[in-house]
Amino acid sequence: MVSSVLIVGAGMSGITAARLLDEAGVAVTLFDKSRAVGGRMATRRLDGGAGDHGAQHVSARSAEFAAEMARMVEDGVATEWLRTPSRTHPARGVEPRFAGVGGMRRIPEWMAKGLDVRTATRVGRLEFGAGGVTAVDVEGEEVGRADAVLLTPPLPQTLELLGDSGLDRPSDLEAVQYHASLAVIAILDAPAGIPGGHVAPDDPIVGWVADNEHKGASARPSITVQSTPDFAAAHIDEDRDGWTQQLLEAARPFHRGTPVAVHPHGWRFAEPVTTLGEGARRIAAPAPVVLAGEVFSGARVEGAYLSGRAAAELLLEQG
Ligand SMILES: Cc1cc2nc3c(=O)[nH]c(=O)nc-3n(C[C@H](O)[C@H](O)[C@H](O)COP(=O)(O)OP(=O)(O)OC[C@H]3O[C@@H](n4cnc5c(N)ncnc54)[C@H](O)[C@@H]3O)c2cc1C
Repeated sequence: MVSSVLIVGAGMSGITAARLLDEAGVAVTLFDKSRAVGGRMATRRLDGGAGDHGAQHVSARSAEFAAEMARMVEDGVATEWLRTPSRTHPARGVEPRFAGVGGMRRIPEWMAKGLDVRTATRVGRLEFGAGGVTAVDVEGEEVGRADAVLLTPPLPQTLELLGDSGLDRPSDLEAVQYHASLAVIAILDAPAGIPGGHVAPDDPIVGWVADNEHKGASARPSITVQSTPDFAAAHIDEDRDGWTQQLLEAARPFHRGTPVAVHPHGWRFAEPVTTLGEGARRIAAPAPVVLAGEVFSGARVEGAYLSGRAAAELLLEQG
């Protein structure tokens, strides 16, 4: 068994792995380039309100994640927000969708409690020596040393890190593509009045509009507008003021109220187009290097959770 692990990425997969490793007595340090934990489970506060600009809700189909969500609901960290049929798997029927109370980031924040997390730390490369593996940040500073490392960023970022560390980039992983997404949080001057709190219109620009107040994420009227993948692919490299206005204009028929403050966010790697279904993967390296993330376990937040579990099990098996 390894006795210490560095984890790059404090999103759902990294945090889940960290908790299991920590429970097993392994010394774990998490690094994230952002100022907060959660990765694509992201909440932004602005103008006395808030909104989720990444994941909007989570489903819990596996026994393990359902038990986790039940604990969070009991602790007042999450709530069952919707009961809707799956768009991708209609045969599953109506399923509960959970949201964080006060925003989706509440969920990873709660899960990361007590863990050693170094935020605002972008790992630039890994170095290998007799003592295991050393993480070096993009300034060239050594930020951690351990027996093994777990990488959880979206695959293009993980592959860049492998290349910069002198490791082979697995060719099948190079082929995995991601959808982009553009999201705008808008604080409104009046309640959004969206029936059921959300709408997924059949529209070339708007993929989804959520009422953050209805969801319990915002104390003030607030919506999140998410683009379709096609609109995001066409506009992600353009000036954000332009696509922000286009998104807000296109969303206008679906809500009441007028925006008084806005926050746009472009996600280049929002969701993988295809997934791998292998849980996590150990790659060839002088010390144990394991890759995880939602792409390895069927996508979305629950996939990230399951991948984090698989990665922890794989690391605990290493001699
Ligand atoms: C707009 C949008 C809407 C979505 N909607 C839903 C939804 O409704 N329901 C759902 O279940 N899922 C949804 N998803 C997908 C879901 O958010 C992700 O599948 C899940 O959060 C991925 O978790 P992860 O831990 O695998 O990766 P991430 O959350 O991306 O975590 C990886 C972390 O690695 C960090 N990182 C990257 N490179 C480095 C580096 N070099 N050094 C240090 N840190 C680094 C990043 O900052 C990030 O925090 C959505 C995603 C987006 C973008």
